[in-house]
Amino acid sequence: MHIFKYITLYLREIKQNTMNIENNQFKIQGVSVEELVENYGSPVYVYNTDTIASQIDRLKQAFKGQNLKLKYAIKALTNLSILKFIKSQGVGADVVSIQEVDMALLAGWKAEEILYTPNCVAFDEVKAGVDKGVFINIDNLYILEEFGKEYGNEVPCCIRINPHIMAGGNTKISTGHVGSKFGISIHQLNEVVEVVNQYNIDLQGLHIHTGSDILDAEVFLKMADILFNTAEKFKNIKFLDFGSGFKVGYKQDDITTNIEELGERLGEAFTKFCKKIGKELELWFEPGKFLVSDSGTMLAKTNVVKTTPAKVFVGVDSGLNHLIRPMMYNAFHAIINASNPAGKERVYTIVGNICETDTFGEDRLMHEVRQGDIIAFKNAGAYGFSMASNYNSRFRPCEVMVHKGKAHLIRKREVFEDLIKNQVVIDL
Ligand SMILES: *Cc1c(COP(=O)(O)O)cnc(C)c1O
Repeated sequence: MHIFKYITLYLREIKQNTMNIENNQFKIQGVSVEELVENYGSPVYVYNTDTIASQIDRLKQAFKGQNLKLKYAIKALTNLSILKFIKSQGVGADVVSIQEVDMALLAGWKAEEILYTPNCVAFDEVKAGVDKGVFINIDNLYILEEFGKEYGNEVPCCIRINPHIMAGGNTKISTGHVGSKFGISIHQLNEVVEVVNQYNIDLQGLHIHTGSDILDAEVFLKMADILFNTAEKFKNIKFLDFGSGFKVGYKQDDITTNIEELGERLGEAFTKFCKKIGKELELWFEPGKFLVSDSGTMLAKTNVVKTTPAKVFVGVDSGLNHLIRPMMYNAFHAIINASNPAGKERVYTIVGNICETDTFGEDRLMHEVRQGDIIAFKNAGAYGFSMASNYNSRFRPCEVMVHKGKAHLIRKREVFEDLIKNQVVIDL
């Protein structure tokens, strides 16, 4: 590799750090973590737009020369200001419910920029999507047939294929294996061809999304083979959608999907295929986690440091109600004491305040924690706030976006009224 390319990669890495340490203070785009907690309270989700922009840029660079379309999977982080920012970077939206359709429209995306990929919904919800003008991705044969009966060749669509590739980090987030509920089985391709021909369906896209945390470019190349073979069976194909599932780094030395290598190898195969069929197809991805995970940090405050005969616990003013990934997926989130970067290192188990076991991290080396210290949970941008709940009747955190060096409140912290507003108290 050319030396300048190394330097560019290195500089990008520095810029990519969501949180940097300057003068013994943790800062997000120059705004200190202390200042954030002082102004907005805790716990608070903070997002760094520079990190999102650089991830988008990385994908665009890796697939330079392709007719690349990115559709952000909005379920990862659904705040409207974040959606607006991602839209401003020339990225479309991938949505999975009719409410997400409305959310994406509200954020300003045009209907035709939105890909709607629902799973196991009633046909009514698909029709509602068509009425709103979004592009439909069909995930089972029954819906495909209903779609054909209702719209014939008047409304274009895409189908989601289940390639029966087992990939990804955890069965809860794997969606392409043989026992998975997602997509139309590759073994049912003949039936798909029959239905498409019978109703003259305008099938413009093929889609595979095999789940999260795919490490190996090889998996995407296997998917490509399946998509290429399938694409040759349908004359209207305009795009192939490779879904998402790029693995991001949660630990310091985590191996992550090598996007640059993927771009080179998949890009080459894609170009070759387009040449072969004599058509310029679009190459789509639907990244969620890859775009927003690293941009987000959850900041919480230490309520107690509790020493027991077995462990020293750091109890924070948050819990699995705010960040469920450690308990739900066994996910690792780096946890740092942002208030005492020079302190002596000790081993802690970091837990929440929910009345059930809610461990964020077990036996972690951290700089000495004192009551009141701010604890930062890294990589909290994806599936953090969007999976938060009011369990234990606690408020969900507020959200702050740091953009161009300035912090903006983008969601208020809840108040008691929010917890009861839809309840109906009957007379007894
Ligand atoms: C959730 C989802 C994604 C995004 O997955 P990540 O692992 O967050 O990148 C993409 N496409 C579809 C259809 C999804 O359901």
